Amino acid sequence: MSKVPGVDYDMLKHFAPNPGRRPLLPDLSEKAQVALMCRMLFHEGWNEHIAGHITYRLDNGTVLTNPWELAWDEVTASDIVTLDETGKIIDGDWNVTPALGLHIQLHEARPDVNVVIHNHARWSGLWANMHRVPPVYDQAGGYVDGPLPLFDEYGGTFEDADKTMAAVRALGDAKWALLANHGSLVVGRDLRQAHLRVATLEWRAKRAYEVELGGGGVALTEEQVQAIALPDAHGFPFLWEAMARRELRRDPGVLD
Ligand SMILES: [Zn+2]
Repeated sequence: MSKVPGVDYDMLKHFAPNPGRRPLLPDLSEKAQVALMCRMLFHEGWNEHIAGHITYRLDNGTVLTNPWELAWDEVTASDIVTLDETGKIIDGDWNVTPALGLHIQLHEARPDVNVVIHNHARWSGLWANMHRVPPVYDQAGGYVDGPLPLFDEYGGTFEDADKTMAAVRALGDAKWALLANHGSLVVGRDLRQAHLRVATLEWRAKRAYEVELGGGGVALTEEQVQAIALPDAHGFPFLWEAMARRELRRDPGVLD
């Protein structure tokens, strides 16, 4: 199987998230991690005004989410709302969108999915509007492999349980989906894996748009993408931490 030059595949296989020499980040509460995730993904292009929801299921079954009223670039740790497993607010000062039903159904249907993220993403949303799945044209667009379903039965906003259940079924075991005429959906085992998936999806979608605008290119084969995609098991080494530090530099108040 062909491999991409410059990628140390052995290192990736044996990657340990914390090598223990120097701390990559200060201690972060789970709410602070969700607030940082909002800020990071805002800067990936998941930034349509106040649209978008991140849910993060904790070990005790409760679910953390961002407030309905706030844009992703202003959320702080104390803004994060806590839900029970049915989606009812049990702690927090803000409302949550009724569109969270899809997330709650996904958490219930897939025990492997502790993080669900949806927004009207800039680049992947563009492909969703074109009803096309972006090819993978470069290495950074191939960090995550597997099918990218296009869910094309647009039925309005995601507030109806039957409509959202159809989306859950369409997603199946996939890591992500394009929602035609709507936006993008990404799931993951934990925040760092879900972050890599969002970042890879946006990069892939942006690159594919630019390559096709520039006259076209040579897409990577599925086999090549599978060889590149080893980081997805743990998230790309140190990436989540680096992007979290970037947000801490931008605004340390995210931890408040
Ligand atoms: Zn939406």
